[in-house]
Amino acid sequence: MAARVIDGKAVGAAVRARVAEEVAAYEAERGRTPLLVTVIVGDDPASEIYVRNKHRACEEAGMRSAHHGLPAGTSENELLELVGELGVDRDVDGILVQLPVPDQIDPDRVVAAIDPAKDVDGLTPVNAGLLAHGMPGLVPCTPAGVMELLRHEGIELEGAEAVVVGRSKLVGVPVSRLLLAANATVTMCHSRTRDLAEVCRRGDVLVAAAGVPGLLGADAVKPGAVVIDVGTNRTDDGLRGDVDFEAAAGVAGAISPVPGGVGPMTIAMLLVNTVAAARARV
Ligand code: NAD
Repeated sequence: MAARVIDGKAVGAAVRARVAEEVAAYEAERGRTPLLVTVIVGDDPASEIYVRNKHRACEEAGMRSAHHGLPAGTSENELLELVGELGVDRDVDGILVQLPVPDQIDPDRVVAAIDPAKDVDGLTPVNAGLLAHGMPGLVPCTPAGVMELLRHEGIELEGAEAVVVGRSKLVGVPVSRLLLAANATVTMCHSRTRDLAEVCRRGDVLVAAAGVPGLLGADAVKPGAVVIDVGTNRTDDGLRGDVDFEAAAGVAGAISPVPGGVGPMTIAMLLVNTVAAARARV
């Protein structure tokens, strides 16, 4: 294996330590600590685990967190009402509605109802619009985590060819916008892209966010490229990324593993966003 393995756990831990210092400084100034409120509708086991980890991370960073667990039969209006209440609650700095929500609820309507100043997932149309316009706002956590990994690795993005596989609102689109803002030349691939491997091979940086285990093999990697694998796919062989790690590592210069790559960054960047949201509020 030629590639350097990018250690998201270590980078995430460093970010979290920095956040803990910022929280202590914020508390000394304001006499309070930032408060993140999470909401889950229903009892999706994966959501429960993700949210539990987020609360643990808040606690470790010295921040407060609270949780609303709503029954699976909750109506869209009931959820919108709670999101509205959290929006006007002066003590709440960050609101996170864990997706997916049950079928009777339109996730887009719920996300759009979150106060953009407290939208620590960075998914509201307002924050997506700010990102599209290159204006400051709250940036989605996973894409922000990808950029933090690239920064940590000292990757020169200016003028680099970056290829992003996936065009979701959650990952593909925002990560492409961030790469563009860093002056990379960005190509976006998706399920209708022809000759996927050939297009991917242009990338000095390759970001995989398709949700298809092992989609990208050695033939999709430019020799020496930096490969960031966002894919988190539960398979019979355990958690797997979108990149065939062993094959790609023979060609890439650096590669993030799954697990232990982007995953730990997502929670770290959520903490960063929550402190930023608290700071930005008067
Ligand atoms: P999504 O299903 O919303 O979007 C997937 C995108 O990939 C789509 O734009 C689609 O066009 C594209 N795609 C699908 N199949 C493809 C193919 N064969 N070739 C090329 N493009 C293809 O998924 P998402 O929410 O963006 O998540 C993507 C992956 O990232 C998933 O595995 C998800 O679990 C993972 N993820 C991880 C984290 C984390 O914290 N590590 C966070 C969010 C998402």
